[in-house]
Amino acid sequence: MSDKFETHEHDVLVIGAGGAGLRAAIEALAQGVTVGVVSKSLLGKAHTVMAEGGIAAAMANVDTKDDWRTHFRDTMRGGKMLNNWRMAQLHAQEAPERVRELEQWGALFDRTEDGNILQRAFGGHTYKRLCHVGDRTGLEMIRTLQDRGVHMGFDVYMECTIVRLLTAGERCVGAIGYWREQGRFVIFKAKSVVIATGGIGKAWPITSNSWEYTGDGMALAYEAGAELMDLEFVQFHPTGMVWPPGVQGILVTEAVRGEGGILRNKKGERFMEKYDPKRMELSTRDVVARSIYTEVKEGRGTEHGGAYLDISHKPAEYVKKKLPSMYHQFKELADVDITKVPMEVGPTLHYVMGGIRVDAETTRSTLPGLFAAGEAAAGLHGANRLGGNSLSDLLVFGRRAGLAAAKHAKEVSAPTIEPTQIDAAEKYALAPFQRHNGENPYAIHRDLQATMQSLVGIFRTHEDVQKALVELGRLHERWTHTSVEGSRMFNPGWHLALDLRSMLTISEAVARSALVREESRGAHSRIDFPELSAEWGAKNNIVRHDASGAMTLRQDPKPEPPPELKQILAEEK
Ligand SMILES: Cc1cc2nc3c(=O)[nH]c(=O)nc-3n(C[C@H](O)[C@H](O)[C@H](O)COP(=O)(O)OP(=O)(O)OC[C@H]3O[C@@H](n4cnc5c(N)ncnc54)[C@H](O)[C@@H]3O)c2cc1C
Repeated sequence: MSDKFETHEHDVLVIGAGGAGLRAAIEALAQGVTVGVVSKSLLGKAHTVMAEGGIAAAMANVDTKDDWRTHFRDTMRGGKMLNNWRMAQLHAQEAPERVRELEQWGALFDRTEDGNILQRAFGGHTYKRLCHVGDRTGLEMIRTLQDRGVHMGFDVYMECTIVRLLTAGERCVGAIGYWREQGRFVIFKAKSVVIATGGIGKAWPITSNSWEYTGDGMALAYEAGAELMDLEFVQFHPTGMVWPPGVQGILVTEAVRGEGGILRNKKGERFMEKYDPKRMELSTRDVVARSIYTEVKEGRGTEHGGAYLDISHKPAEYVKKKLPSMYHQFKELADVDITKVPMEVGPTLHYVMGGIRVDAETTRSTLPGLFAAGEAAAGLHGANRLGGNSLSDLLVFGRRAGLAAAKHAKEVSAPTIEPTQIDAAEKYALAPFQRHNGENPYAIHRDLQATMQSLVGIFRTHEDVQKALVELGRLHERWTHTSVEGSRMFNPGWHLALDLRSMLTISEAVARSALVREESRGAHSRIDFPELSAEWGAKNNIVRHDASGAMTLRQDPKPEPPPELKQILAEEK
């Protein structure tokens, strides 16, 4: 073991301090093991803090007919049946208990008149199901989990980026990272590692995602030998801001439509009547995003290339109370008063349904000792996620990850780490400083984003995705020549050079998976294969690397639900 670096040892190491990571850490602590939580950003600033609309859980506080079966069916139908059925079942069954627990730990939800947690409507959910705190639900969730975890005693390493997982034989035994401020390396030894690092939105230019979303956890798991799954399913949220240019992509929460917001084109037509007359604005995100895209493409878009979203028919005080962040966001960033005039909105890259392949009960990845939860993991959402189902995912599978990681840690011996792995990681991370006058990481990032936006976007064709793969190969080659100037002290160019490796790897996995799936399902729309295919509906795309390090793709049969769940799925509602 190299002793030249700062080293910490825990039974369970959680990478990521969003909802999934914090919930995992709390559960592991409750099992009596030691826990360290590492986060690229400051504690309290993880992406989860941005979540707005709410947590989906069939509590039946507002619509008394709601139950886990309906939530399960909605989730499976929203995901176009590609979901892992067992994850969807556990999620629907356990979400209400997880929300109640959050409340017991101090979360202050909006209330019904009789004092229960208030629930609102959201796209694809049959009943009013989203437990919320105005449009700042993520903030309340993070605050509550953080207070609980800190009180219980996890160790926190913030502003620390993990660059490699460490393995011993076939087992994950820790990670190596660097302090963003100083650039010094730090080693974490652990019996179990939980990845809860979120998604990959920053590979696209128009995105609701924060700077943290560079696909690190998925790439770390892939490089360490774990399998990834269904990465072709990348969700474009239908409503991001489109104007002014500096704020393009910032999310306009689905809660606006949940509270009665209406979509219109420049001719004043309520165009969802044409695309989904039954569910209208509360159709699923894939459908609404494609509808707005089509309206714009066919010349019926707004002045700045979007659609109008109008909530001004509701009383101004109601809008300010239910959507305070939206009110301030538009007032401050666009000088628009949404209580008086419509917003201009358009699709923005929002969420990735694919990710690390996990076992439904335990969130165990295919690499022993490595677990994954939250947006970094695949399976629950299938081909398209319903709004509100992410926050409940974090609570349900974050808890399961903590439980299983703690159990595993109690069963295995303390890890030993090969110094050669640490030396290799150090060499890899410092390589951009050894090169001079090489490629600029910002230029590569810009070109990556342009490639993904134009060739692997809302609508895809074989020809475009094939072109994207060629371009990604070129970008990867350029990346091997990146150089950065200056020192290791808070050097954003260096940070990006390292993040780029994750973005390039996961973008390649997205493109390869999108190329082979010759059908349109959920968020994956192929112009050349516009229909659902029964054959593809029975397969998951699995990505891993072979012994030479090359990316390989195969299809595994999708697990079939048992008869009693098939019956629930067949019921009309
Ligand atoms: C604007 C917005 C609004 C949303 N609203 C809702 C909503 O109302 N309801 C809903 O269900 N979903 C919503 N979502 C989606 C949901 O918020 C996310 O999917 C979810 O919060 C992801 O949580 P997570 O715990 O998986 O990851 P995150 O909360 O993103 O946390 C990831 C953590 O990993 C850390 N990390 C990443 N890489 C590294 C690394 N290399 N080393 C160390 N640490 C690392 C980060 O610093 C961070 O701490 C919204 C998303 C956005 C963008």
